[in-house]
Amino acid sequence: MKFTVLNCLEEWNLVDQVIEGIQSLPFAQSKMNEALDLLDEFKVFCTDAKTRLGRCCYGARVIELNEIYFTKHGLEKDRNDTFLHEIAHALHRFFVSVHDESHGLYWRMIAKAIGCRATRTASGDDSKVMREIRVANAKHVYTCKKCGYKIYKYRKLKNLRHRYHGPCGERSGRLIHNQLR
Ligand SMILES: [Zn+2]
Ligand SMILES: [Zn+2]
Repeated sequence: MKFTVLNCLEEWNLVDQVIEGIQSLPFAQSKMNEALDLLDEFKVFCTDAKTRLGRCCYGARVIELNEIYFTKHGLEKDRNDTFLHEIAHALHRFFVSVHDESHGLYWRMIAKAIGCRATRTASGDDSKVMREIRVANAKHVYTCKKCGYKIYKYRKLKNLRHRYHGPCGERSGRLIHNQLR
């Protein structure tokens, strides 16, 4: 079963806002049909990536979305935002031939037009999702000596002697390491 980006936009009721968003961009209007063809070429893959929610692989015509979006409920907003973020990368590469940073001015313009929050990295609700992913995949847990806060990591922290739980401070917020699996 392989879905294209366009299939998913339809399935998730996002297709109108994306089309309207593209039409609102002065540099994109005349290439509307090509843009829709492009979105129908891109496949959507589910990944078990440990450290990211989504990724746009322009050359391979693939947008990856973290499996957490396919296995948990109540995350549609976050899923849509991540999906639109990656679609904005695809459209950015397609429309903007001048050199522009991947989260630069034009990317933000496109992302906002299609209804994405257009932040560079996960924030707010997304950071909760990232924490869930980290907790689910963690191999190491570090517990703050003072307050008991747990920090979950896929990779072992280097230089544990120099690490501490920020809010508790360098002196009392030392971390205790436990290997999970
Ligand atoms: Zn990005
Ligand atoms: Zn602490």
